[in-house]
Amino acid sequence: MTPEEFRKYGHQLIDRIADYRSGVAELPVMAQVRPGELRDALPISAPQQAEPFETVLSDLDRLIMPGLSHWQHPGFFGYFPSNGSLASVLGDYLSTGLGVLGLSWQSSPALTELEEISVDWVRQMVGLSDAFSGVIQDTASTSTLVALICAREKASNYALVKGGLQAQQRPLMIYTSAHAHSSVDKAALLAGFGKDNIRYIETDASYAMCPEALAAAIARDIADGLTPCAVVATTGTTTTTAVDPIDAIGQITSEHGIWLHVDSAMAGSAMILPECRWMWEGIERADSIVVNAHKWLGVAFDCSLYFVRDPQHLIRVMSTNPSYLRSSVDDEVKNLRDWGIPLGRRFRALKLWFLLRSEGIEGLQQRLRRDLDNAQWLAEQIRPHDDWAVLAPVNLQTLCIRHQPAGLSGEALDLHTQRWADALNRSGLAYVTPATLDGRWMVRISIGALPTERQHVAALWEQIQRAASDSLLS
Ligand code: PLP
Repeated sequence: MTPEEFRKYGHQLIDRIADYRSGVAELPVMAQVRPGELRDALPISAPQQAEPFETVLSDLDRLIMPGLSHWQHPGFFGYFPSNGSLASVLGDYLSTGLGVLGLSWQSSPALTELEEISVDWVRQMVGLSDAFSGVIQDTASTSTLVALICAREKASNYALVKGGLQAQQRPLMIYTSAHAHSSVDKAALLAGFGKDNIRYIETDASYAMCPEALAAAIARDIADGLTPCAVVATTGTTTTTAVDPIDAIGQITSEHGIWLHVDSAMAGSAMILPECRWMWEGIERADSIVVNAHKWLGVAFDCSLYFVRDPQHLIRVMSTNPSYLRSSVDDEVKNLRDWGIPLGRRFRALKLWFLLRSEGIEGLQQRLRRDLDNAQWLAEQIRPHDDWAVLAPVNLQTLCIRHQPAGLSGEALDLHTQRWADALNRSGLAYVTPATLDGRWMVRISIGALPTERQHVAALWEQIQRAASDSLLS
């Protein structure tokens, strides 16, 4: 494609994205396709000859678009908000178009420095002290993996440059709650800890980790000759947005010199609101923190912010520094390849910077407060109904609800819950996530897509009630 062709089709694509965003509310939220539909419609091998780009675009409309579920839809209440604000979409587009890579500071100086600056802006916005330094990773899964590798190396006195984990006399232990995200398990497994060395600490009635149970588990492990290595606490667990008590957990980790990683993937965005900072009480005790700017805050996926208290330790663990990547200014600059796993670094900071400048802190705060208000409003609509339950505290923008009509319990109730949620999703009017809580099915409503206003939440409540009563009749 020549630059002139790119100009032509690029303008068309921008128009498509703008039309998509302004018309997305008219589309069914969940894709109405069957498994394998796209695979059956596309050739099994790449074309031998070049095809006109018009043909590609027409296939995009005909084949690809119908196979999408729409996360930017006002009726999207699934999983978590993954808001791609249009300003950040432009940043992503620009990053790809410029095609620069930050292998080192010198390989594209502004890429590194804009990342330092824009991540530091967020550090201040979420109220973290300047004892923390930040960097962009792709996802929270990677941030947590990096955290656990750093914890491993601290507890093992840099075993990676000796015999590694295999040479450790005593197993290193990880502690988290049963409500932590699966990425914590994955990180612990990939970092070599092994499933047997993960302790799932019990939670209280609000699904938050019990610090007393944590302290007891650590004491037991020490007595058994094991080495406590890291605690992963969560601010805003995936299922219920429970808030682990960081201050109490941090006291325990400080006492024993254990790494404290705080997973605030979704809820971290809310720390830009002073009224939500209670969730981070004691956060300064953390060794590392992850905040996904690509969730509720509005940076187009992917942009996970990883904050650390000791960047020198991170660099020591992650640095390889081969001769071909060194430069004469290395003593004066940050080489962000040493702040994580990949060498190649996209210009992700552009999309964060575009968002922060085009919305401003106040604009972002206003939107998040809208979503928090909408969640409280919906909870107030539901609670007075005897046959409906709000199952967990509504700390943020997520509700866990269940329709529990008299006479239905156990598996029959589970079946009813899954049936009405499935019917609602299939209707295309709204998209919600069924999940289990305390061994029973319920439905998560995650409010906070960019275009979701009170009227959409009110419509959702009507749709939910209808889907539940229809399910009883069928
Ligand atoms: N941690 C929590 C609490 C989450 O809710 C999620 C995603 O849902 C993750 C981590 C994983 O995020 P990512 O997709 O950025 O790896």
